[in-house]
Amino acid sequence: MIFLRVFPVLFLCLFGATTVLADRFITIGTGGVTGIYYPAGAAICRMVNRHRSEHGLRCSVEATGGSIYNIRSVRRGELDIGVTQSDWQSHAYSGKKLFQRDGAWPGLRTLFSLHSEPLTIVARRDSGIRLLDDLKGKRVNIGNPGSGTRATMETLMKVLGWQESDFAIAAELKAAEQSQALCDNKLDAIAYVVGQPSGAIKEATTSCDSVIVEVAGPAIDRLLAENPYYAPAVISAGLYNGTDHDVKTFGMKAVFVTSDQIPDDVIYHVTRAVVGNLADFRRLHAAFSFLKAEEMISAGLIAPLHPGAIRYYREAGLISEQEAAGSECCQN
Ligand code: GLU
Repeated sequence: MIFLRVFPVLFLCLFGATTVLADRFITIGTGGVTGIYYPAGAAICRMVNRHRSEHGLRCSVEATGGSIYNIRSVRRGELDIGVTQSDWQSHAYSGKKLFQRDGAWPGLRTLFSLHSEPLTIVARRDSGIRLLDDLKGKRVNIGNPGSGTRATMETLMKVLGWQESDFAIAAELKAAEQSQALCDNKLDAIAYVVGQPSGAIKEATTSCDSVIVEVAGPAIDRLLAENPYYAPAVISAGLYNGTDHDVKTFGMKAVFVTSDQIPDDVIYHVTRAVVGNLADFRRLHAAFSFLKAEEMISAGLIAPLHPGAIRYYREAGLISEQEAAGSECCQN
């Protein structure tokens, strides 16, 4: 009798205060292992798993083909969270461009954005490529299908009026393979939409003599004017070997996305692990050093915030009750 009376009290003391999810496995889809999505996802999982006893989440990271693959896999329920470029997040939400056949996805939700990702084109110095137009007739890696890089390169080719046949070779190597192929003289130029500084671009500019190519001109100005998720960007002088002047290009944000089918508790804990420990997170990669919570919850986000993320932002005082009510009201 005494046991029966004491047990519920004991149970409440042990588990009552927090919501304990019974060992739920979640997977974050990222990109190639030499990119920034992958270490970002790995770091986030470590931060989530550190508090496993509180919430029961077991987070694991998966190396993937990149943005497009991640969005489609989250939509199919094969990944819980994915990282994507903000341009493709926007098209997936509205069912445009590459996502026309998939149709609009009103259930797409966001957690936060991270760093900016400039389109970075690197060419062998001996190829003579210095400007965008010089890429014509050359051996260029336009990125693996499934990557945001490839999708953005196709957008770029379209505004320039180029076809794949305008290149001597339009290769489809993965990001992790392209720097070596450039330095082995199998390619004249490579492209990567990636945060800076990037280890892969460092490899391409230190293992052989190569330069960063300017991505500018009237077609790019039009692209920026017509698409709010694109912004002008600069690869700073001296960031990479061989390029001692600022190089103009354009870029967008890396965004963490999920589906409205993922429970609020899961997204709440992942969001809290990152945004609630931002000082630690910033130290993990130079590309994260300037992250600010206020920007992460607005810049580059086109699909609505997930209610689990809103719960954390409200609790942390990052959004007001009114703003939270506004986002919740209009999500469906
Ligand atoms: N933005 C790239 C893509 O979606 C991935 C960059 C990275 O892995 O850091 O293909």
